[in-house]
Amino acid sequence: MALYSIDPSTGETLKVFMEWDAKKIQEQVKKSSHAFDRWKNLQCSDRGKILRNASRILKKNKQAYARLITTEMGKPVIQAQTEIDKCIWVCEYYAEHGEKLLENEYIHTGENTSYIRCSPLGIVLAVMPWNFPFWQVFRCAAPILMAGNGFLLKHASNVPQCARAIEEVFRNAGAPSHTFQTLLIGSKSVRRVLADNRVAAVTVTGSDTTGRCIAGLAGTYLKKVVLELGGSDPFIVLDDADIEYTAKQAVKARMINTGQSCIAAKRFIIHQKIFQEFTDCFTEKVTELSIGDPHQRSTDIGPLARKDLLRKIDAQVKASVRKGACVLVGGKPVQNTPGYYYLPTVLSNIRSGMPLYSEETFGPVAALMKVRDEKEAIRRANDTAYGLGSSIWTRDVEKGKQFIKEIQAGCVFVNEIVHSDPRLPFGGIKHSGFGRELSWYGIKEFVNIQTIYMKKHW
Ligand code: NAP
Repeated sequence: MALYSIDPSTGETLKVFMEWDAKKIQEQVKKSSHAFDRWKNLQCSDRGKILRNASRILKKNKQAYARLITTEMGKPVIQAQTEIDKCIWVCEYYAEHGEKLLENEYIHTGENTSYIRCSPLGIVLAVMPWNFPFWQVFRCAAPILMAGNGFLLKHASNVPQCARAIEEVFRNAGAPSHTFQTLLIGSKSVRRVLADNRVAAVTVTGSDTTGRCIAGLAGTYLKKVVLELGGSDPFIVLDDADIEYTAKQAVKARMINTGQSCIAAKRFIIHQKIFQEFTDCFTEKVTELSIGDPHQRSTDIGPLARKDLLRKIDAQVKASVRKGACVLVGGKPVQNTPGYYYLPTVLSNIRSGMPLYSEETFGPVAALMKVRDEKEAIRRANDTAYGLGSSIWTRDVEKGKQFIKEIQAGCVFVNEIVHSDPRLPFGGIKHSGFGRELSWYGIKEFVNIQTIYMKKHW
């Protein structure tokens, strides 16, 4: 089997990599295990220096890495540059704060000395998606490495060039060889890696289907697992929201990365009093988006990352239309192009039972629904299997606070687009997964929280 790097804006195959066989996987895990023995014994401050070097390398080569992302998965290049900026930030954040976050915590237990020590857990396998091919990896690699663990990357099969480039960043930053190791493998080989006793844990960012499968393997082999899975974030617009501002933010929230983000706003829940006004304003802004070559700086919407994703979003829209959804704009793939382009799309009249209501949608498709009042808004927002992000748009701070209490999601943003930030924990509930990344919660996911108790006298 092979891994294909394909330019989604043209459909052209750029490179083909042969998948590693069982023997090669074994050899690499063995090398990673030796590297881990060295890495875990470095001072935290030395690991921090290597993270700082990684951030410098990213800064120096930002344009080239951004171009690689754009070429391999179609992200508009300006957004790809922003992605690299975030990777720089997360490396700097853990380089600066990691040592403090991992410090021993002394607990008063009388005359004796007791404390909690965070020691490395071992080698962590990261199964990653293609949608933020650099950010997703750096987001978990920076804290995992800072804590003294080894890192094995099984990246999505369609971004092998990004996977190799990231490995090179860490190697050039001075991490001992194989401390960060990319495995050129498909999803079927994940079981083999997890079954290896030298691998201690697994972190997964991907769909809920993948999460179920890998959580099952983690159960079989008794390995710690963190799951960062899909989402169907509600974007709730109350009747006192600033329509113009909120509609502008709504377009950004839905269309970022051509709609292929776990925390993109997917279901727009709009108070009936302002439904028409908001819908008109939002739809007009969607029609102004420029779709085309993702390498052009003026492009807002690029191709979807793979052909099957284009087919899937089209099928979800068609099935919803058959059940009564109304297309206000778009609603189909761009014709006469070899690239995987889907028109920026707005649909209204979304109801329970439609794919756009209940499934995660990965593409530039906004699903609008009208609600009578705030009570119905909360009910609709929570009427999903997912629980990743959510946002509420209102001038009334007290109403915002009420929603914070009611919404079932890993985060609630009031008058701001859902986004991740190294200083704040990130993750979901329900079918969006469990465990957290980023902040001190993220760095504590893959450590042995060791209790130390030392008696002073016999
Ligand atoms: P995906 O199909 O679940 O793939 C993610 C990774 O899992 C890939 O490396 C894939 O490898 C691997 N994989 C797939 N099936 C597997 C299996 N049965 N056993 C072991 N590994 C398996 O997801 P995607 O299409 O790449 O990414 C989109 C999904 O990720 C969306 O659901 C999105 O919401 C979610 N996501 C979540 C977050 C978050 O933080 N919560 C962030 C970004 C994306 P192959 O490529 O080789 O199949």
